[in-house]
Amino acid sequence: MAPVNLIPKHSPALERADFAPYFRSTPRQAGPPNRSTNHRLTSVWADILPGKAVYGAPAGRHALWYFLEAARIPKSGRVMVPAYNYYVVVQLLIQWGLTPVFVDVDPDTLTMDPADLDRAMTDDCVLVLVTHMFGHAADMASITRICARHAVPLFEDCAHGVGTRDDRGQIGNQGHGALFSFGPQKPMSCFGGGMLAAEPAAIGDYTPAPHPRGGPVVESSTFLKLLLTAVMSHDTYRVLLSPATRIAVALAKLGLTWPRDLIAPSKDDGSFVFKLNSRPAFKGFMTEMCALQLDRLDENVARRRAVIAEVKAAVGPTPHVRFLNEDKFGFHNGAYFGVHVQDKDLFARVMLAHGVEVNPYEFFDCSGLKQFAAFAAAACPQARTVSDHIVRVPSYPTLDARDCERIAAGMLAYCAARETVEEGSPDVQPA
Ligand SMILES: *Cc1c(COP(=O)(O)O)cnc(C)c1O
Repeated sequence: MAPVNLIPKHSPALERADFAPYFRSTPRQAGPPNRSTNHRLTSVWADILPGKAVYGAPAGRHALWYFLEAARIPKSGRVMVPAYNYYVVVQLLIQWGLTPVFVDVDPDTLTMDPADLDRAMTDDCVLVLVTHMFGHAADMASITRICARHAVPLFEDCAHGVGTRDDRGQIGNQGHGALFSFGPQKPMSCFGGGMLAAEPAAIGDYTPAPHPRGGPVVESSTFLKLLLTAVMSHDTYRVLLSPATRIAVALAKLGLTWPRDLIAPSKDDGSFVFKLNSRPAFKGFMTEMCALQLDRLDENVARRRAVIAEVKAAVGPTPHVRFLNEDKFGFHNGAYFGVHVQDKDLFARVMLAHGVEVNPYEFFDCSGLKQFAAFAAAACPQARTVSDHIVRVPSYPTLDARDCERIAAGMLAYCAARETVEEGSPDVQPA
């Protein structure tokens, strides 16, 4: 049984005022984006994504689909993707008609390794997709150079990356297109939705086709995501969300999967198929929620970075919990705090005993997933290691000094448990 005051693994850290645009939206405003809502969205993001063509999308994945249409990416050829990835992105590219080539990652940042991209590059490559995993900036200087040399368009997955900066400002500014995601599990929640930010020259006069209306389950998901976002805070989480998660997981075993996918997105569903109408359209109130959260962005980034720094300082150097180099290629937004541990399951159990929830299975070495076996040409040893050993620890801005102490105490207890394991069984070699 977890302690009473459980620190949830994630919180979008919304304030009460952030909910107002949803309740203020009239049915007309609640409709799909028209020219004026799109104009407003563009101006809301103009400070950090200057000069970009910006389109609201039903989700981040739809923004990638829009880009494939808009940039007229051929429906055959190869696409370079980092192996440590979100399987949904890889599956979508396959459905478009592309052949994914898995590129290994830099273990310091979990992002695409340019040296391996160079090695993997082929003449029939039609797209390179980089993922700023955990909000860590990728090595864009090297990657843009390689793409330019091969004259291949570059797409940036910024699902975790609002507030991360490189030498060109907000990440997403350097590629031909970039996706952002506003789901409840992301650092900025608009109760769903996503966004494409593209280089105008790369997409011409493209506008996305009107989004088809989904069935009642799809259309009601916005309100469910609102509820979910509301309970993702300390006080309500344990009372409401933990039991709800358990019920949803039980229902999923009986074949009813949408509640589970909403609360605890399954991070590897081998039978997943991307469907355009699986989400409600991007709505005007989401634009206003972006505006409110962007006003607090710098403050939130500073607080998240402080949480990470406090925890790192309290734990100190230890071989059992290795920290990453989040700022290697840019200024990290602090959204996701990844740590490298030998035994992810033991780590999750010890942290939970200290009242800290972590999810040991979130992103994977996609080159090792069954559904992509046909595309796994070269092994990606770093992606494999990262997939086996990286765990994400809470770092949202509402965590206070006592929460940081609790997170550090959990990590230190894990270190002690590992000492015992290693002393108790000297024959067991750490992999
Ligand atoms: C969530 C996520 C996406 C897609 O965002 P959706 O809004 O869920 O479609 C893409 N890439 C990564 C790394 C993500 O975590």
